[in-house]
Amino acid sequence: MKRSYIREILESINEHTISFAGGLPNKNLFPLKQIRQVSLKVLEYPDALQYSQSQGLESLRKEISNIYTNKFNFKTNKDEILITTGSQQAFDIILKTFQTDKMIVQSPSYIGAIGAFRALKLKINSFESINYLKNTLKKSNILYLMSDFQNPNTKSYTKEERMEIEQVLKKQSSILIEDGAYSFLSFDGKISQAISSHYSNSFHLGTFSKIIAPGLRVGWIRAKKENIQKILFAKEALDLHTSTLNQMIIFEYLNTFNLEDHLKLIREDNYKRMIFLSKCFKKFLPYFDFELPKGGMFIYGKFKDIDTMNLAKQIQKLNIAFVPASVFYHDDRVSYEARFNFTNLSYKQMLKGIKKIANFIDKHKYISS
Ligand code: PMP
Repeated sequence: MKRSYIREILESINEHTISFAGGLPNKNLFPLKQIRQVSLKVLEYPDALQYSQSQGLESLRKEISNIYTNKFNFKTNKDEILITTGSQQAFDIILKTFQTDKMIVQSPSYIGAIGAFRALKLKINSFESINYLKNTLKKSNILYLMSDFQNPNTKSYTKEERMEIEQVLKKQSSILIEDGAYSFLSFDGKISQAISSHYSNSFHLGTFSKIIAPGLRVGWIRAKKENIQKILFAKEALDLHTSTLNQMIIFEYLNTFNLEDHLKLIREDNYKRMIFLSKCFKKFLPYFDFELPKGGMFIYGKFKDIDTMNLAKQIQKLNIAFVPASVFYHDDRVSYEARFNFTNLSYKQMLKGIKKIANFIDKHKYISS
């Protein structure tokens, strides 16, 4: 079996590595004090350490359903939410319940989803244009996509594109898995209408990983009640339920503090970092072509004529990491594109890393004139 490139990168990263590779949020923004405070409170109750319902704590499901109804303009009740151990677990839960001959994914797509589909031995096909999707999607397929700030290429669908995709889905009645991991992370604070809000044979995924803390491993699936009931068996089989303690901590955090205030901090910090990294690129790697993202945690772009897998392997020796885009394509094609994370490094490290990559490229005359 082929080794996971991401695992290879993560294993090679040490304290000296300047890593643009992972999707790690800025740990300095974790609400540590608040989490400590609410953890002490929930630990006064023995139930915090007890088994709990497979679907997830009712109180937390209610909070999440309120977020959908009030912030996503997507009417939802607590029976339409299932709490997962990170949103990553949703792939297993859904795909162990619903049979499919093929997954249809965006090109490029989230590497963790491609990995999960491969682990389940599913066939994968991909689409770039919605027109191609129209001719490709069959009833027996399951469509996986991100509508907001796609990982890796940071694009979002316009309102018209969302409507077109909804029409394609309605024609085929295929299942939709819509991943909203970055939906809260627009720089301007706006949240776009999910395709799932107009298409009921859908599973909308969410997570607290990017907006509170990933180490707590709390995510969710939003689906119609009938589908939640169907997937509950797979959730139960996987881990009985998501950590009761962590769910209680998240619930108490949401109940005690204002998530919007925290989101504002994250959005502002992410934006400043994105602008800084984009300036580093413009100054030192002007031939790296990218569009400024409007949200999310990455800058995604293209070198003129550099196989980025090759470059990533070379600069790994200099203790610098980024993700070459071929890993985001299910067919492992050669790619000149690359993804750089801006939320995890210090400004100084970002500058140093980009300068080092530029020096390496100049020295090795990578760019043909
Ligand atoms: N979906 C996307 C698009 C992601 O980028 C990630 C994490 N990088 C996940 C899902 C999984 O996140 P988690 O399991 O931490 O909720």
